[in-house]
Amino acid sequence: MSTIGVGKEILSQCNKCKLILAHIIVTMKDATDPDKVMCKTCKGTHSYKDPSAKKKKATIEKVIKNHKVAGGKKITQSVAEIWTQALNSSQAPAVAYSIRTNYKKGDVIAHPNFGDGIVERLIDSNKIEVLFKDEYKTLLHNK
Ligand SMILES: [Zn+2]
Repeated sequence: MSTIGVGKEILSQCNKCKLILAHIIVTMKDATDPDKVMCKTCKGTHSYKDPSAKKKKATIEKVIKNHKVAGGKKITQSVAEIWTQALNSSQAPAVAYSIRTNYKKGDVIAHPNFGDGIVERLIDSNKIEVLFKDEYKTLLHNK
């Protein structure tokens, strides 16, 4: 026996109330999916919005796909995980970032805005790619 149908109550996100509220199903798309629902609070009719859909999206972590590690193995890790591992394995002390310093791969820098970062790659003689806690950034150096 299906519990979903026209006239039945269902929880849906309400655009007007900005809340997940009890709605009455007005029309059905098919046997299992509501189409239009009416909010019991504001009496507005709108398309059904699955209240769990929004929640799922918010919990998806920032992930770098196919990040290459030593040996050419491809792995999936969040930037924060890579950053933590890189800083833990580095022996170099963090040095205050300066645009005039000539950096090399593996140097640890302390940036006034972005915090501690580790030099991942030399892009060219004046640009470095630095891994910070939340993201990779391109910084100038050797100016
Ligand atoms: Zn409403």
